[in-house]
Amino acid sequence: MIYVHVPFCRSFCTYCDFYSEVTSRCDDAWSDFSDALAREAEARACEMNREVNTLYIGGGTPSVLPLSVFEDLSFALQRAGQGAPFDEFTVEVNPDDVVRKGQAYIEGLLKLGVNRISMGVQSFDDGILRWMNRRHDSATARKAYAILEDAGVGNISIDLIFGLPQLSDKVWRKTLMQALDISEHGVVPKHISSYQLSVEPGSALARMVERGQWTEASDEKCERQYDILCETLESAYGYHHYEISNFAQPGYEAMHNSAYWRHVPYVGLGPGAHSLSIYRSKNSDAPRMYGQHDCHNVSAGQAPGLDLATGETSEDVYVRQWNEPDLKQYLKDPLSAQDREILTSDQVMIERVMLGLRTSAGLQESFLRKHCNPSLLDNAIRSGDLVRTCGSNLRIPKEKFFVSDSIISALI
Ligand code: SF4
Repeated sequence: MIYVHVPFCRSFCTYCDFYSEVTSRCDDAWSDFSDALAREAEARACEMNREVNTLYIGGGTPSVLPLSVFEDLSFALQRAGQGAPFDEFTVEVNPDDVVRKGQAYIEGLLKLGVNRISMGVQSFDDGILRWMNRRHDSATARKAYAILEDAGVGNISIDLIFGLPQLSDKVWRKTLMQALDISEHGVVPKHISSYQLSVEPGSALARMVERGQWTEASDEKCERQYDILCETLESAYGYHHYEISNFAQPGYEAMHNSAYWRHVPYVGLGPGAHSLSIYRSKNSDAPRMYGQHDCHNVSAGQAPGLDLATGETSEDVYVRQWNEPDLKQYLKDPLSAQDREILTSDQVMIERVMLGLRTSAGLQESFLRKHCNPSLLDNAIRSGDLVRTCGSNLRIPKEKFFVSDSIISALI
């Protein structure tokens, strides 16, 4: 399971706090970026494994890259023993890039093994798109979607945002209908991710809030729009609401993101990318799938119980590692700006509960009983905040997804 962070955007969106650089300042950096990614991929080959066989290229805006960078990355991954085919190979694209670069660009991606495209549409209201400082308008989003379909992309995901004060319920309903009607062939998108707008520290929006130029939508409005989203996609169009913000036609649930929510380890390449590794103990109850050998250096002192020679531990050791969000440094030496922390067992438990309970599958009751206060758990079951699935899992019922944060924080 590999994630590649592409830290370039042509312009910055109002709400965004992801690490990225403006491309006009970086147009001559493509080959340096390719080289640095290749060096990192090769150096970290022994951390990668195919238990969850996915590659996700996100950002930033990967579609600003020329095809040659994707080709170089494919070769580098091949040399690292991680070449295509992947069960799921996703690239994030911006509608404006798709229209500018045309069908040949998308066909080039498909030739490299890409089998899923995630397109940031966000809205079909041109006023809202301008406020978001997106590069496209609604007509461009439709045009881009047609190009993806004509190129033969069978698995397209689109992103939408709700919960803006200037977004009325009427316009939100219309936006959803436009999303479902985006295909020229009358086929609904296989996957829709929809997030409530949030004010992220460091974003232009946060600065607008500080200056008193913008106020968030009320909770009531956000909840209403979330309900409209769920009703529209689930009841009328048969989407599987498999995670708080994610809806899929049956069989099109995102494999890569689903693995994150199960706390599956992954390798993140590129400036600002994060990775997660597990050193599993013999009696581990961590999800069984992967690989644990960190070829870099977690010192035994940092991770008590870890035998570096065998990779065995007396208890599971989770290591989060990240590349500093610093393009210049990354281009100079992609391995020089990495940092890592050993997660405490409390941190691991909290993350697993937070991620797992966001999904419609929920978490094993035995796991929750082992790690959460049993009386709080029983309270949550009695009040209907948690329900039993037909298996042995507990999950938050979908009608309470909107308040899942408060349900989860009451448990941990
Ligand atoms: S939302 Fe996407 S395109 Fe917009 S600034 Fe953030 S990473 Fe770039």
